Amino acid sequence: MLVCPACAASHVEEERFCTRCGMPLVVAGDAAAAEAPESEAHAHARKVRPEYARGALVRVAGGRNQAEAELIHGFLLEEGIPSLVRRAAAFDVPDFLAAGQRDILVPESGSAAARELLVEAELASGATEQAGAGQARPTEVSARHVVRLTAAILGGGLTAALVAWGLSQFAN
Ligand SMILES: [Zn+2]
Repeated sequence: MLVCPACAASHVEEERFCTRCGMPLVVAGDAAAAEAPESEAHAHARKVRPEYARGALVRVAGGRNQAEAELIHGFLLEEGIPSLVRRAAAFDVPDFLAAGQRDILVPESGSAAARELLVEAELASGATEQAGAGQARPTEVSARHVVRLTAAILGGGLTAALVAWGLSQFAN
């Protein structure tokens, strides 16, 4: 089953975009969806501010892996900005692995606010790409980003479990 990352509507497999709001659909069994029961998905949908949910999707940041991308996703959502986490094109990691670069896309109307927030959290695209120019393994830069991001969202209502899970991805 497919679900809309913005409004949590369910769709049949044949659909590629949400019939209600136009966001590209994600598979309900994805890591993000698997961790989030439906009630949480609806809670997420309620946080989205409509003025940030218009326009074509544009890339505003990169996550070095699924965990970091989901932290950025949660951070933006707390500010009412819906985002889509997508595996970066042509990255040479099998689909079933949580490793690998991710793109974070937001609707055009929310992109300016998203970039501003990410700059404040030092997670803007440029800095991330610069840090990610080398190898795909976690670096001190990446870990520092996540710690700062985690600190930034601790007051924001993301569950402690997700934060702990995210940090554990960088503990090794
Ligand atoms: Zn939708």
